[in-house]
Amino acid sequence: MEATLIQVPAEPRHRWAAAVAAIVLVCIAFAAWPHLTTQAVVSPPFVPIFATSVTLTEGLTAFLLWTQYRACGRLYFAALASAYAFTSVTAAWHLAVYPGVFIHAVSKDAGRQTAIWIWLLWRGGFASLVTLALIARPWLPVPTAAWRRSLGLGLIACSIGLSITLCRSAIVGRAMLPNLVANEGTYRHLSANPATLGVAGICFAALGIHIWVTRLRTLMDLWLAVALFAGLADVALTLGAGARYSLGWYGARIASMVSASALLGMLMFETSRTYSKLADAHRALKAFSVRDGLTGVFNRAYFDERYPNELAQASKGASALTILLVDVDHFKHFNDAFGHLAGDECLRRIARTLDSGLTRRGEFVARYGGEEFVVVLPASDERTGSATAERLRLAVAGLEMPAASPGEPYVTVSIGQASSDSGARSGPANLLASADAALYRAKTLGRNRVEGEAAPSPNVAINGPHAVYAS
Ligand code: GH3
Ligand code: MG
Ligand code: MG
Repeated sequence: MEATLIQVPAEPRHRWAAAVAAIVLVCIAFAAWPHLTTQAVVSPPFVPIFATSVTLTEGLTAFLLWTQYRACGRLYFAALASAYAFTSVTAAWHLAVYPGVFIHAVSKDAGRQTAIWIWLLWRGGFASLVTLALIARPWLPVPTAAWRRSLGLGLIACSIGLSITLCRSAIVGRAMLPNLVANEGTYRHLSANPATLGVAGICFAALGIHIWVTRLRTLMDLWLAVALFAGLADVALTLGAGARYSLGWYGARIASMVSASALLGMLMFETSRTYSKLADAHRALKAFSVRDGLTGVFNRAYFDERYPNELAQASKGASALTILLVDVDHFKHFNDAFGHLAGDECLRRIARTLDSGLTRRGEFVARYGGEEFVVVLPASDERTGSATAERLRLAVAGLEMPAASPGEPYVTVSIGQASSDSGARSGPANLLASADAALYRAKTLGRNRVEGEAAPSPNVAINGPHAVYAS
């Protein structure tokens, strides 16, 4: 799994999706071009809806980029988050001064000229900050964990401060700024103003530099290019629109929404994909962590956790549970005669045989340690447990693996059995101690046999003393 979104390469399907988004924008722009100045319906609620959605979308994008930064520590993400935070705050300013929205709350006559100046700051600022981040990308250090948070927050605070300063200046100093909206309400001054042309140039250059530097190799680069392209389309359509509420003006606002949501869409898609990949990896890791590395059956830790629960459930449901301790006979001799690698293979085959010999729901085998296995048989009383134990013993002998010890031609196992419905003692440790004692008896009585419970000695610990068998 890739560590950061910067490293996720753009695959052909991603390029297609981005190309379709760009082509749709171009087609809409071309189709609308002859009618850009046509007046459409004047819909006062459109601007608040549009500006609110852009403010939220850009803010959310900034937040998701911030989470990427927190995860990987690459300042480039913090720089991009700053660019989006700048845009989000500037879009909120734009909404605040837009004629007919909150105009009285901000300034009596700020709206008419100021909204368009703030729009220019928004477009030019976003393109400039994204380009600055891109140019600085190779030199941006990876801050230490102690500095990560403060540096990232510092960058975002600077961009928000920049937005507040610029927008405030545009409102306070509006008398000094040239009028971009003509008296009759048209945009005829807009396309001739050097500031507008400068912003258009910045947007165009930002897109060119971005494509040239990144070659759109990664998903991030690709969708950032779509955002820059849509921003450029916003500027071009606004310049050609002629006036507010014309077809071109509505088209420009739609392009602006595409610009705001391009990266957000990719981030949300990739974040949910990463989450489901993580969930799969977690499941696989969990499944792997409960298995014994050599034999593939469950490991001791898994047995220690599950066995007491199974026993508790059995006693709650008033059913019996049987456990079997299985120990390979004379395994030391086997190792000595055939080597440890052959010994390992022998253990693997025995484990597989025990595992496939269990047919009932809930039954499982775990490696107890060394050449010993433990089999847990829920819903098995003493009689059923004995039958299963005998079947397993015969199955191992049936493998006909040559033995090294005198007396038996093939490798065999001894099995000690204890059932919760027999004997006076209860509790996981006591039942295990009974099985251990039964195994000890099976060994002393000649091996290759199943032994059940006899009178147990009291207070035997869970890791009971069956290491010393008569040989
Ligand atoms: P008994 O019939 O009394 O159980 O005799 P034994 O030889 O099986 O018992 P002992 O406890 O003396 O020896 C167990 C042997 O199992 C010793 C050890 O080298 C071997 N063993 C334990 N774990 C592994 C393993 O993972 N791989 C291999 N190859 N051998 C193992
Ligand atoms: Mg042993
Ligand atoms: Mg043994």
